[in-house]
Amino acid sequence: MEEGYMSIHIEGGYAGKTLWVDLSKNKILTKDLDPELAVKYIGGRGFVAKLLFDLVDPERDPLDPQNPLVFATGPLSGIAPASGRFTVGARSPATGIHGDSNSGGDFAMELKHAGYDFIVITGKAQEPVYLSIQDDNVEIKSAKDMWGLTTHETFDHLREKEEDRNIKAVAIGPAGENLVATAAIIETESRAAARAGMGAVMGSKNLKAISVRGTKDIKLADYEAWKEAFEELLQVFLDDPMTSQVGRLLGSNFLHRVHSAHGTLIIENGHRGYATEEELEKVSAETILKYHVKGRSCFLCPIACTRSIYMESEKYGLIKGRGPEYYSIQSLTYRAGGWDTEAGIYLNKLCDAYGIDATTLPSNIAFAIDLYENGIITKEQVGGLELTWGNFEAIEEIIKSVAYRKGKIGELFAKSTKELIKEFGPESEWYALEVKGLTMPSNDPRAGNVYNMRYAIATRGADHLRVSVLSSGRSLKWDELPEDEAMRVFVHFETYVTLVNLFEVCNWAYSSYTSTPEIAEVKEKGMFKIYNAATGLNLTPEDFAKAAHRTILTERAENVRYGLRREHDYLPRRVFEEPLPINEKGDTKIFPREKFEKLLDAYYALRGLDPKTTAPKPQILKELEVHEIEEDLRKRGLIKGGEE
Ligand code: SF4
Repeated sequence: MEEGYMSIHIEGGYAGKTLWVDLSKNKILTKDLDPELAVKYIGGRGFVAKLLFDLVDPERDPLDPQNPLVFATGPLSGIAPASGRFTVGARSPATGIHGDSNSGGDFAMELKHAGYDFIVITGKAQEPVYLSIQDDNVEIKSAKDMWGLTTHETFDHLREKEEDRNIKAVAIGPAGENLVATAAIIETESRAAARAGMGAVMGSKNLKAISVRGTKDIKLADYEAWKEAFEELLQVFLDDPMTSQVGRLLGSNFLHRVHSAHGTLIIENGHRGYATEEELEKVSAETILKYHVKGRSCFLCPIACTRSIYMESEKYGLIKGRGPEYYSIQSLTYRAGGWDTEAGIYLNKLCDAYGIDATTLPSNIAFAIDLYENGIITKEQVGGLELTWGNFEAIEEIIKSVAYRKGKIGELFAKSTKELIKEFGPESEWYALEVKGLTMPSNDPRAGNVYNMRYAIATRGADHLRVSVLSSGRSLKWDELPEDEAMRVFVHFETYVTLVNLFEVCNWAYSSYTSTPEIAEVKEKGMFKIYNAATGLNLTPEDFAKAAHRTILTERAENVRYGLRREHDYLPRRVFEEPLPINEKGDTKIFPREKFEKLLDAYYALRGLDPKTTAPKPQILKELEVHEIEEDLRKRGLIKGGEE
């Protein structure tokens, strides 16, 4: 990209407009998309990073009404295979730091067709409202009659109120209304922007839902070039067995067996990394298949990895609709010490209905069970619950109580992970599998050291999505490389996944359901080709890599303003001190602390971060042309001295 940013002319790909909503003032503004923002940050997670950096005052509480909540689509939303993703971001009430969450479904595509690349929402409505978007007609409408409804009931209401069966929407359930730290935002297709408490931010603004209907075309600068690039990329998906034989047939639940074989599962809050065959016969992709009716897909996805479930259970009755993803069902079952697919499907459905993050809340419950089983906390402290491994009745009661903050149990588990640690006392810290206040999902760092550095360095806390690879077996080989070399591979994949997030295509489709590095490379080139054909720009692979790097450093800079330093890029102490059993033979694995520090130093060096403060160094900020970030950090005394 050689021209100055002032002369950029974007012909398509983007919708070109952005929506700014102030709920306190009942005001709606439409602004043109800033081409410099588009080229420097590409879209989606990149837009969220820059807008939060520019608009969040670090002195304000996460739930301060003036803090923005941003919903962003990407330039490939609606025009590339598996492009139904969006990112929603805000300062997280669950962690107090940079927060964002990504969801699939059709909402992003519909928002683009309505003509908007992103929405920025500030303020707080006096009474419950929802945002109604029908192309240029945007209104703030009353949601008083929807407050208290589950997410599924809310979508039915919205369809009636908007007199349109085809609206796409996002909504919160009672958990978001009640400012529960693990509240999620649910999408019409029952997809979820689950992590980092974004549902609570919506609730704090009295915003129940956003309903969208869009009928505009997305402009394409060079239709023929776009069509060719799209068809080539689609063919790559169709030819890859990971699409047809794994993604389409088993969905994300193929990972139970893969992770068990590598000893990286999190069973009973991280005391064991493998499952026996008998256990896998109770919870695995095959057991879920018994209830699987058909695959469901997000917009334009040839994989359709989502499970549509029909379950007639003696205990739980009839359950229909979207089934659980791997990370949800493992958290709801064996992480808490129970092996029962029906219970997992039922509890997952409850979480979706109430708008609860089905990974983080159950992880907090597993943490509490571990404390209870080890005599660290008493029955009285957990509202009289018998918190033993595999007690699904207790888990059900907690979920139902949390959604409405009912009684002692509801108030207790509505708290964030960090607040729970404080509540349960210093001895509890050893048992908490969290980083920066976000719980660590399955894939234990002891059984995959380098790969799971992602939990330490991710800007929103222990995050499995900032670096993901083609299959976890491949990433285990990184442990055999010298630290510097290993981190170069790690950073390469961090860049790749960040690009996937900026374009707003699906991380599962573009990384996990991909057989070989060669196929991933073809997918990457395909994304670039579609972007350039659609926008009429001519960005190079280096331009895209810089946009990814810029995004990561912008999120870092936001976190540095909140006071995060090297000591916040940690892993739970247990990972360094308690060996993890990885198979039935009795083998164990651990993460040597010295190795961790070396890997961290290598990461900081590759990303241009100060190894003590973790602030981006002036030189890298200059190279990435983000002078305003350098200026801001200097003004606050967070960057001192010369050019290095
Ligand atoms: S791979 Fe699965 S999650 Fe990703 S877009 Fe396709 S259906 Fe949605």
